[in-house]
Amino acid sequence: MEQRCAGCNYTSATSSFFRSEPDGARGRRSAFCNGCVPYARTPGDRGSTARLVMAILLLPAGLLIFAAAPKLLPLGMSLAAAGAMCAARPLTIAVHEFGHWCAATLVGYKVVRVAVGTGPTIAARRYGSTVWELRRFLFSGGHTLSYSQSSAAKKWRHALMLLGGITANAVVALALLAVLAWHIKSAGAASPSVVAILTGATLSQALSFAFSLWPQRLSGPGNVRGTDGQMLVDLYRVKDFGEQAKSQQFYTENRELMAQGRFDEAVRRCADLRRERPSDPLLFSQLQHALQRERGAREAFDYFQNHAGELEMAQPQRGAWVRANAAWHALLSEDANLLAEAGPLSEEAFEAFPTVPEIRGTRGAYLTRTNNHERALPLLLDGLRKVEDKIDRADFAHFLAHCEHGRGHADLATEYDNLAEHLRDKARRGLTLSDAAVREAVKN
Ligand SMILES: [Zn+2]
Ligand SMILES: [Zn+2]
Repeated sequence: MEQRCAGCNYTSATSSFFRSEPDGARGRRSAFCNGCVPYARTPGDRGSTARLVMAILLLPAGLLIFAAAPKLLPLGMSLAAAGAMCAARPLTIAVHEFGHWCAATLVGYKVVRVAVGTGPTIAARRYGSTVWELRRFLFSGGHTLSYSQSSAAKKWRHALMLLGGITANAVVALALLAVLAWHIKSAGAASPSVVAILTGATLSQALSFAFSLWPQRLSGPGNVRGTDGQMLVDLYRVKDFGEQAKSQQFYTENRELMAQGRFDEAVRRCADLRRERPSDPLLFSQLQHALQRERGAREAFDYFQNHAGELEMAQPQRGAWVRANAAWHALLSEDANLLAEAGPLSEEAFEAFPTVPEIRGTRGAYLTRTNNHERALPLLLDGLRKVEDKIDRADFAHFLAHCEHGRGHADLATEYDNLAEHLRDKARRGLTLSDAAVREAVKN
């Protein structure tokens, strides 16, 4: 019987290539291929589920209690208000992020993405240059990614963008309070359910306001470094805001260009900026990546050999990505003479960042090429399962085919080869889609 992977849609009749694992907001079991793993929930995602359960339990329970026993009115109303506060969370997040979008647009920022919820994307639409996303865990949080397009970025503009979210929460909270006051005044006898629900919704906005404004460092996936309040404090203290804003603009636009397959433009822009920052390893590794996509692994490796001497790589961690990229390109070039170069490069990168999946996968690719298949296997699996870039994943699958061949599993080797083709195909289709989206964005 054919099985389909819930992660990448790969289909095959080889049942040993699939496992059943819990997935989704409700943890139902689904089939995953050897190259995919279910999304791993964060503590924030779990908070989302808790709020949803509270809303489902408390809101009806509260309404029932004071309908059935008028004496218990205060208890019923408190429960219903608490339930309504949880139920209103997605609306509160949407209001907050929409506030950021309005403020960012007002100060001339480009808004790349507005996301409501956390976790995997369940729906996305592009309007103009902004992608609007709904995520699986709607009751936890959200984010807005925007950047200054000006060559002279100003702190006050950035501050307004940061204040947009809580301003929107405050405006909606006041509007809800006004409706509540009007309801209590105009209705002869105010309805307890309306009062409870409006109170809950207002509290949800007020809590979002207070939590976002309170300066606090946050850790988690993505680039969220802290609450809006924390970022305001950081903004006030930062000395080289202009330079930072310029870097952010560059890296955000570069990521967009790469995601849209506009590799030639990415190469040109990286090379231009390298003239100003010739010793910057981060910029160098971006250029290596774009060069490989545009002109192939061999040229990217040659570039490394000719220019790595210009870099500041005294600390092993600063140059780790550059070395990992160079090793990866040496391996991708399939040139046996470069294998000796890939060994020490991939090892040094691995020693600096032993847990980064891209770097683990690269080390695994070197090991399987040198016939250390057993040591290569877990490293390559980490690369295939945890890296996001589809083309890189296809390449890891290709190395895994080599690895399983070496281990004597010809059937699995064929599966990995087919999976590599499948992922490459998906990447190509993804690029054509975003090309159309870019033309759309340029028109607007
Ligand atoms: Zn899969
Ligand atoms: Zn915010």
